[in-house]
Amino acid sequence: MRAPAGPATENGRTVNPTELIRKKRHGETLSRQELQFLIDGYLRGDIPDYQISSFLMAVYFRGMTFEETATLTEIMLGSGKSVDLRSVPGLKVDKHSTGGVGDKVSLILAPMVAACGVPVPMISGRGLGHTGGTLDKLESIPGFRTTLSLEEYAAVIRETGVVMIGQTADIAPADKRLYALRDVTATVESIPLIAGSIMSKKLAEGIDALVLDVKTGRGAFMETEEKAGELAATLIAVGKRFGKRTLGFITSMYQPLGFAVGNWLEVRECIDCMHGRDVPDLMEVTVLLGGAMLFAGGKARSIGEGADGCREAVRNGSAWKKFIQMVRTQGGSVETVEDPDRYPVSLHSSAIESPADGYVTAIDALDIGYCSILLGAGRMTVDDKIDPKAGILLHRKIGDRVRKGDPLATMYTDRAPALSEVAARIGAAIVVAAHRADPPPLIRSMVDERGNHPWPLDAKG
Ligand code: URA
Repeated sequence: MRAPAGPATENGRTVNPTELIRKKRHGETLSRQELQFLIDGYLRGDIPDYQISSFLMAVYFRGMTFEETATLTEIMLGSGKSVDLRSVPGLKVDKHSTGGVGDKVSLILAPMVAACGVPVPMISGRGLGHTGGTLDKLESIPGFRTTLSLEEYAAVIRETGVVMIGQTADIAPADKRLYALRDVTATVESIPLIAGSIMSKKLAEGIDALVLDVKTGRGAFMETEEKAGELAATLIAVGKRFGKRTLGFITSMYQPLGFAVGNWLEVRECIDCMHGRDVPDLMEVTVLLGGAMLFAGGKARSIGEGADGCREAVRNGSAWKKFIQMVRTQGGSVETVEDPDRYPVSLHSSAIESPADGYVTAIDALDIGYCSILLGAGRMTVDDKIDPKAGILLHRKIGDRVRKGDPLATMYTDRAPALSEVAARIGAAIVVAAHRADPPPLIRSMVDERGNHPWPLDAKG
């Protein structure tokens, strides 16, 4: 499928990168050969960062046709290897979230779905901007290896039915290079670029189907529901183009998901949930996505039936057993996850108290995400080291009643100088008012090839 590298020609005329940047700047459509020329030239080092940065900014402002988006995805996918998991029995299904604050769903979801008989091969990302990343969370478990070779990756899924790793040098290297550039050139929030980036990695994983969690709201990359819907439709159409069944949900990131924000704090919350603790918003999203994965993987007749199966896997302990098996297989410390109290604690912890009697009416997820980074839970530059212990534990969510002086949140950090600034910011991010405001619905809609549907679809779900 890959066109030979070399100068792009248009009507017999050789094209140079500047012409292609100008073309996109004017909103014109680029051909497969032109896109291939840009990406290949960039990977070979013939086209410098500054020209590709300009091209990305032109795409950011002028967009791409669906054909261009699908072609870009194919070129990025073809820049690396794809894993062939056809010898692993059953339909392999993964989930992708577009990113949020406190979004720890994958840690429960992957073992839970695998425990129900659907193999889950998952390639995850690191924290990005104000959002956390599954890889950083997994790496907070002592010894957990997220850098398996593709051969090991295939062997682990065959053996345990679940594997969670990071993007290797072999998987969509064009995305790795472009992504790093987008991150520092304010070109992340572009639907064709996000779709190409996500789908090139997901298509390389060896999956048969993909379930999407497209976040919307203040803590998400797509703040409006309309934009989230557009992104979801593009991701689904690209999935269909490549023969992968793709469906998903638009879910709200109007407040952090669950109570914990920060790597180990989030793993700990997941451990508690796998032992039956009900963190309502976290478990609502997790069980719903799990239901969709079992449905897409042919193990349930409906999403609702799949969700029931997932709840049962948590209840009967099989999700937890699968989690332990995954941790052990990938070199993580089983003793630590079985006895999380032995984990080191931050040098400093400090609570933010409610300034008045009343109700929590808003929790700014974006600002809570930035605060957790200031405490050490995320990176401000690519070279920053994460402190896995650091983060924020919320004690109240939107709609909860509070009394003056009740703790709203606790900060955990080794960085004493950060405490006073972060305390003030968290105090401003959590709004307490006299009148109760209910949280908006968490699940906004379901999306599939036929479009966007209100959720639940019917009484049975
Ligand atoms: N996640 C990705 O992998 N890529 C993007 O562009 C955005 C979110």
